Amino acid sequence: MSKKRDPLQHDDEGYLLNTTEAAITNYPSPIRQDAHKLSDEEKIARIEPKMREILEILGLDLEDESIKRTPYRIAKMYVSEVFSGMDPKNFPKISRWKDDFHHDQNTNIVFMRVGFTSFCEHHLVPMNGEAFVAYKPNGHLIGLSKIPRIVRFFAKRPQLQERLTAQIADALSKVLQTDDVAVSISATHYCVVARGIEDEGSHTITNVLRGQFNSNPHVREEFFDAIQRIPKHRV
Ligand SMILES: [Zn+2]
Repeated sequence: MSKKRDPLQHDDEGYLLNTTEAAITNYPSPIRQDAHKLSDEEKIARIEPKMREILEILGLDLEDESIKRTPYRIAKMYVSEVFSGMDPKNFPKISRWKDDFHHDQNTNIVFMRVGFTSFCEHHLVPMNGEAFVAYKPNGHLIGLSKIPRIVRFFAKRPQLQERLTAQIADALSKVLQTDDVAVSISATHYCVVARGIEDEGSHTITNVLRGQFNSNPHVREEFFDAIQRIPKHRV
């Protein structure tokens, strides 16, 4: 592959410097320039009364003990939890080191299955599923625990499944300095299920295959074989 500029230099310990750069992809989410001007606390304080108003307009009695704090719970969940991946500074801290293991060309695909929950940006209801992520090391490795963190960082935004798939591929490519990445996502969209359009068994699949996963049929086949074979773990 062509030599490209490494936007993520690392220090002597292997820690990547400026990982927020890896959060910026070629498939940007519709996030405003001024999105990070308010602190998380300020956002929660401003969303809470607006959420209260929505629920009151719907006719809910917010004096009821059970739902009294629902406007606050929703505001906090949006800002601190399910949409925390809107802020690039929440991109996981990653160390990257030299790959001394994968000298054999036939055994050098790193493959992982990652469960995630995201929110569809059209209805703000969950989509959940699994991301199958693979890369061929190009002289670099990252800790395996970082792959789920990268997936979940991009999942924690109002999302489109297609964009989520491409954003994960872009970030892995940047962090690992290789074009040889593949991401396949299978997800159930609860906006479709909850509204009765499709049932819970419906899955949508999106694939992004880059580098050798796109150009080499053997590598591509190995990826799709691995999806079938890799055991399902419930964590
Ligand atoms: Zn939707």
